[in-house]
Amino acid sequence: MRDVIIIGGGPAGATLARLIGQNHNVLLIDKKSSDESKTTFKKPCGGLIAPDAQRALARFQLEIPTEVLANPQLFAVKTIDLQARRVTHYQRFYLNVNRHRFDSWLLSLVKGADVIDNARVQKIEKSKHGYRVSFVREGTVHIEETRMIVGADGADSIVRKTFFKRKIRQYMAIQQFFNASETKPLYASLFDHTLTDSYGWGLIKDGELIFGAALPLSDSRKNFEMLKERSRLYGFDCDAPLVTEACLVNSPRSIREIECGTDNIFLIGEAAGFISPSSLEGISYAMDSALALARAMKNKDIIKSYRSNCRKLKVKILLKQCKSIILYTPLLRKLVMISKIDSIEIVE
Ligand SMILES: Cc1cc2nc3c(=O)[nH]c(=O)nc-3n(C[C@H](O)[C@H](O)[C@H](O)COP(=O)(O)OP(=O)(O)OC[C@H]3O[C@@H](n4cnc5c(N)ncnc54)[C@H](O)[C@@H]3O)c2cc1C
Repeated sequence: MRDVIIIGGGPAGATLARLIGQNHNVLLIDKKSSDESKTTFKKPCGGLIAPDAQRALARFQLEIPTEVLANPQLFAVKTIDLQARRVTHYQRFYLNVNRHRFDSWLLSLVKGADVIDNARVQKIEKSKHGYRVSFVREGTVHIEETRMIVGADGADSIVRKTFFKRKIRQYMAIQQFFNASETKPLYASLFDHTLTDSYGWGLIKDGELIFGAALPLSDSRKNFEMLKERSRLYGFDCDAPLVTEACLVNSPRSIREIECGTDNIFLIGEAAGFISPSSLEGISYAMDSALALARAMKNKDIIKSYRSNCRKLKVKILLKQCKSIILYTPLLRKLVMISKIDSIEIVE
């Protein structure tokens, strides 16, 4: 009987396992493989570590090793409004990383907890003394028992789907990789309200162009292709994709869509709904919510304490919701872009 089984070894699960691994009997199960060459699941991601995520790492006194960094580092975002045909540049402070290596590095820091990778949780059931978790690894089904479950399994969380009814707004995130013809560093965000009420992005990473977008679930692929076509005018040469990947991404419409859990089942990171609805930045929220739960686990009433520890994160999401109204309302976005407030002038 384990104290805690954490399902998911992304930034949320890895951070929680690192924080509680030495004080509890913890098992973390993740469907990714630490072996990068294996063709198992790899999390689709832009791999940009935003200032909030840098702050979270700084708080833990963690420094990203150079082998996790990608090439090049980016200092500006080129904001392209495809409908208004407007382009404005803003200074940004992101670290460009290889997301798979970033996750593997966070997992390598876990001490005390058992980590099983390359294993997919299929079922979680209530048992006499807690919960029974069934997972498959290399074709074999394994079963583990635990007192507490933590769902750190991202947007398509099996824990959330099994135990909670609360819905959250979701988009389909599609990304394609291309040989980069553009040698200049580039990071662009793309807006076109006729195709998505979220946004698209273009980004150079290690010699490849990543073109991606978060799209409403219906007609997502058709609208993605249309977005690529309309972005051509701005130099995006998106023929012959090397790789296509897709996954759900959460984007809470209101903080009521956030689900922290109940007595012995907790959700952290994107599974709970902790992600910015304006930029879809989720790595800082994953680490911060893991810290909130780790601190709560020192108290008797864990869920009460966890909910209370999450208040600041919820306020942050509320503020991001206000920001997304400006960002995703075509007229307001156009006015902000015309005003050039906070923008930078590009010297050719
Ligand atoms: C296309 C895209 C681009 C993004 N770009 C950025 C960005 O540049 N910067 C940023 O900050 N955020 C970005 N985000 C958001 C960010 O990736 C997530 O919010 C963040 O990774 C959430 O961390 P997490 O640990 O909660 O979940 P995840 O990182 O999603 O981790 C969940 C883990 O659970 C595992 N898992 C899931 N189901 C099972 C199962 N049944 N059994 C076993 N294991 C399971 C998966 O292997 C995975 O490792 C992006 C999201 C998408 C979709």
